[in-house]
Amino acid sequence: MGEMVWLPQGTVTRCGICRNRTLKYILDLGDQPMAERDDGHTYPLALVECDRCGLVQLNHIVPQKELFPLDHPYSTGNTRALRDHFRALALELAPQLKPGDLVVDIGANDGTFLAALKEMAPQAEVLAVEPTGQAGKCRDKGVPVTQGFWTAALGRDLVRYHKPARIITASNVLAHVPDPHDFLSGVSSLLDPDVGEFITENHDWASVVNGLQIDTIYHEHLRYYSVSSLGYLLAMHGYLISEAVPVASHGGSFRITARSQRRGLSHRADAVKFRLRVLLHEARDAGPIYGIGAATRASPLIHYAGLEEYLACVCEVPGSDKIGRMMPGTQLPIVDEKQLITDQPPHALLFPWHLAASIVPVLRAAGYQGKFIVPLPAPEVLDG
Ligand SMILES: [Zn+2]
Repeated sequence: MGEMVWLPQGTVTRCGICRNRTLKYILDLGDQPMAERDDGHTYPLALVECDRCGLVQLNHIVPQKELFPLDHPYSTGNTRALRDHFRALALELAPQLKPGDLVVDIGANDGTFLAALKEMAPQAEVLAVEPTGQAGKCRDKGVPVTQGFWTAALGRDLVRYHKPARIITASNVLAHVPDPHDFLSGVSSLLDPDVGEFITENHDWASVVNGLQIDTIYHEHLRYYSVSSLGYLLAMHGYLISEAVPVASHGGSFRITARSQRRGLSHRADAVKFRLRVLLHEARDAGPIYGIGAATRASPLIHYAGLEEYLACVCEVPGSDKIGRMMPGTQLPIVDEKQLITDQPPHALLFPWHLAASIVPVLRAAGYQGKFIVPLPAPEVLDG
């Protein structure tokens, strides 16, 4: 995100996500002091809504060093409900972590979450990032910590000394940072593009509206996300939401898991091609392999994975006008499905693998006794 022309403080004139200038006032709470710290000033406290991406945001941003001074008093470990909440999240993530996997918590506060994760997943490595004096409490808990505000520059810096992160978490942070794009650039730098997951929890704008939670509107809380507006922000950085679940924190929040849109697609396609070829190579020892279904989607897989050499033919349902032709660009004949029953090849490769649940019983009922192979998303020989 190159052209950041706005100052991340003062009156908000453009949407914090999409830079749109059309912001509609939806609630004005008047001029107020900061909620956690009195610097002798009052600042405007009102909400505006972007008519393009839907983000609800404050109309005025207090300078960050005023908002989050190093003596910031808020401590996660002091709230029983949050402590239990982060233990539950750690319990959920721990089994997914392999030895050496790196988990980074941005805005780690006193290290409550990472300390719990370290206990439940000792095989993983953890790193806390926390700007306030709470960082000292991370150290006390044995959680390695980098003290500082999370920025694109810090993300780029950390990746030089650490492996790419398997998981980056940021709970109740994205609503508070002055520039979410700079924040996500940093996430992109450190998160593993193939297997990395970005997990973020945020207070839900819907609970402000539906629950009349106007007491959650204060200067530290710059943005009021919905799954939709946060999804818009993530998409701008190449991330897709893979899961969104409601969580109880702060009277109604949601947790999003996001992954890179690419997720190493080319690498994974190569891997699946290799596995499929190995599987067919072994299957061929038992006898001929027939393809099932000469539909359009069979062709790219045959060519990409070089399947022609493993297949004897491709079967089509009786009556199909493809019968008697060849698969495009190959010498593979398209034959009547009845031949599968007559010839009983030991293996049949199911091109319409996504319809396995309906096709397999039909071919079984018709009398085919060999084994079915599904090619995608993970090549395997079906049982039964
Ligand atoms: Zn917007």
